[in-house]
Amino acid sequence: MDDPRIDGERLWASLMEMAKIGATPAGGVCRLALSDFDKESRDLFITWCEDAGCAISVDRVGNIFARRAGSDDGLAPVVTGSHLDTQPTGGKFDGAYGVLAGLEVMRTLNDHGVETKAPFEAIAWTNEEGCRFTTSMAGSGVFAGVYTLDDIRAHADADGLTFGEELERIGYAGAEAVGGRPIAAYFEAHIEQGPFLEAENKTIGVVTGGQGKRSFEITVAGRESHAGTTPMPARRDALMGAVHMIEEVEALALAKAPEGVGTVGMIEAKPNSRNTIPGSAFFSADLRHPDPAALDDMAAGLKRSCGRIAEARGLTYEMTEVTHYPATKFDEACVSAVRGAAERLGYSHRDIISRAGHDACSMAHIAPAAMIFVPCENGISHAEIENATPDDLAAGCNVLLHAMLQIDGS
Ligand SMILES: [Zn+2]
Repeated sequence: MDDPRIDGERLWASLMEMAKIGATPAGGVCRLALSDFDKESRDLFITWCEDAGCAISVDRVGNIFARRAGSDDGLAPVVTGSHLDTQPTGGKFDGAYGVLAGLEVMRTLNDHGVETKAPFEAIAWTNEEGCRFTTSMAGSGVFAGVYTLDDIRAHADADGLTFGEELERIGYAGAEAVGGRPIAAYFEAHIEQGPFLEAENKTIGVVTGGQGKRSFEITVAGRESHAGTTPMPARRDALMGAVHMIEEVEALALAKAPEGVGTVGMIEAKPNSRNTIPGSAFFSADLRHPDPAALDDMAAGLKRSCGRIAEARGLTYEMTEVTHYPATKFDEACVSAVRGAAERLGYSHRDIISRAGHDACSMAHIAPAAMIFVPCENGISHAEIENATPDDLAAGCNVLLHAMLQIDGS
């Protein structure tokens, strides 16, 4: 057998063609899950996969599977995938790259007449971004048994339209049961969405795992009173208590830098009137770390700090955990297939942790999984200026192809 390489120009052309669907004036993409643009991108992906001789199936949560038969078609498939949906001001590469890299693998196998032992599949997962409908990695999560189909279908967007209604409207509530089928290995190629590869001038990130995330909502209760007549020592200012708690989120992350990160993305004060001392304040706290013990430390530290600050200021607080994604450890054989492929193909590489959630993190629950990162410009993603070079994207796709072939033993 010859030693196949993917066609980087064809991959780039497909990415640019896909990026026209939902293109924004600023050069980005707005292709929200289950929107008309999402439907259009799915239709295009299916057309291309059928042209490449793949058999298509769609499951009840709308995940699309493009299958290229193997010589022993009863074997569990070697699989790759990602997502076609984007953030409202998303870019051309987050998600679409992994989906179209899967397609490029199929096209390359065809070009070189490669017969794999196991079937190969390229997947487009539904609603990875979790912005229009709040749960991220929804399609892969249902597939992996992390969520139930009924729960996900019931989620409504800001206009009150449910996931289930919209999935049916665009014609992608498929017939196939979700999940419950064996997978030999799952690989996902993705832009890094962070600065490390570019900064170190490395082409391939060998992703060994994903960081864990614990996300909290904290409500602080004090006492409303007059901003002019209430002396400072007599105040029970819920917002000032929250301000000091928020500072702790940053301090806890800095104490575990660079792995630890902490973010307060939402804040509300009540009654939000300029001359009333706030009686209630609300904020969110998002804590992440690749090491589960360190992440638990950060969460415990936040709880202690909130207690101490509340007590000192005559406040009470409630802290609710809204999300707990444990850290993901990818499969050693899959990770070393990625590392070995990068090595053999002569690409510079380093091991790296994924800082964002990905469909691969869902898949790691039920199958041997790993990811391949390529650099993106200035580490920026979830933005219209998101960018990556054709050469790096081609390199990541070559690594994907060769990692899949190695796992297949073909
Ligand atoms: Zn993504």
